[in-house]
Amino acid sequence: RAMATSLLRVSPPEALLRPLAVPERLLLGPGPSNVPRRIRAAGARQLLGHMHPEVLQVMDEIKAGIQYAFQTQNRLSLAVSGSGHCAMEAALFNLLEQGDTVLVAINGIWGQRAADIARRLGANVCELLKPPGKYFTLGDIEQGLLQHRPLVLFITHGESSTGVLQPLEGLGELCHRHGCLLLVDAVASLGGAPIFMDQQEIDVLYSGSQKVLNAPPGSAPISFSERARAPGSDTGPTAPSCARGCLTWGLSSLWRRRWVQGKPTTTTTTTTSTEWGQREDTALCSWRCAWAAFDAREKSPSSVMLSPGTVLGSPGAVGLKKARLPTITTVRVPEGYDWKDITAFLMDNHGMEISGGLGPTVGKVLRIGLMGCNSTRGNVERLLGALRDALQRCPRSRL
Ligand code: PMP
Repeated sequence: RAMATSLLRVSPPEALLRPLAVPERLLLGPGPSNVPRRIRAAGARQLLGHMHPEVLQVMDEIKAGIQYAFQTQNRLSLAVSGSGHCAMEAALFNLLEQGDTVLVAINGIWGQRAADIARRLGANVCELLKPPGKYFTLGDIEQGLLQHRPLVLFITHGESSTGVLQPLEGLGELCHRHGCLLLVDAVASLGGAPIFMDQQEIDVLYSGSQKVLNAPPGSAPISFSERARAPGSDTGPTAPSCARGCLTWGLSSLWRRRWVQGKPTTTTTTTTSTEWGQREDTALCSWRCAWAAFDAREKSPSSVMLSPGTVLGSPGAVGLKKARLPTITTVRVPEGYDWKDITAFLMDNHGMEISGGLGPTVGKVLRIGLMGCNSTRGNVERLLGALRDALQRCPRSRL
């Protein structure tokens, strides 16, 4: 033992001798959001083997929860072990092959990211551009479809970098008329803004666990329509499909065996603790999504935050009222202030996170997330009070 110790050239890290310290914080950034006790407690349960019947049963329950949250009957509805990016990659890798044309609607960072992934897999990427803060009309999309004749259209429902909610009405039907599949990113919107996968004819829809669903990051719900799975179906002879064989192992057909056919399959060792949490999360979100679908936007806490007379008031709000994302609100950085001073002040003095801009909005906006259990009037009041304090106490340039 002494000899083995004498061979060690790296000492044990002192920091690891101290117990883990996690401060209490109110997470009102663009995600992750706070995790309710029931979901946290689920993640702390004992592990079971990933092929044990109890785990398979939980996976079935998660699948039913995803079908409910997405409002879909799709058999290929599952949770990818990974973050929203993994689901985005899974969607693109399963729909596209080298040389296939994909039209990517870009009005913020998430379209850029999808275009990047699609380029890496060798697809022919055509970009449909709108300035950040704007959304796409059916006319914009139809023009792109006619010009590029893509196999897949990628679009972001909730653009978390700009705070824009993309209207989806009529989009699926339009894509299908042009022999194209519709792929929608709902990482920042699912559960906070209405989405109806089957009725809206969305072919592939994915989200993430750490935003409105209030679960830890690491489990991303995704669903594929029958049309997206079947080559040569009514999308035309060149229809892409999961059935063509996916380029990556981790996202391959073995998943489908497990999630569609319910067969225990060695895909990966699934993230069982995360799944416990996800099961509880889908249980909780069952009522929350229904609420989101029918809630009048005017009454939501995010609209209260922007009412005239609050410290944010309407003049500071960015974006069109009609297409404002209810889960993540962007407001202009108040004049004369540095956004970093404000976010740091809130963190240090109020134990509260809000965030600066991302991609095209860096330095221009503050992003405030009100997601799932965090979306309450009480939290809005706490935030507005903290912001008033920040505006009084942070340095302000008079220029
Ligand atoms: N799409 C959107 C709209 C997002 O807001 C995010 C995360 N901010 C992602 C994709 C990527 O998700 P993740 O960070 O979980 O990988």
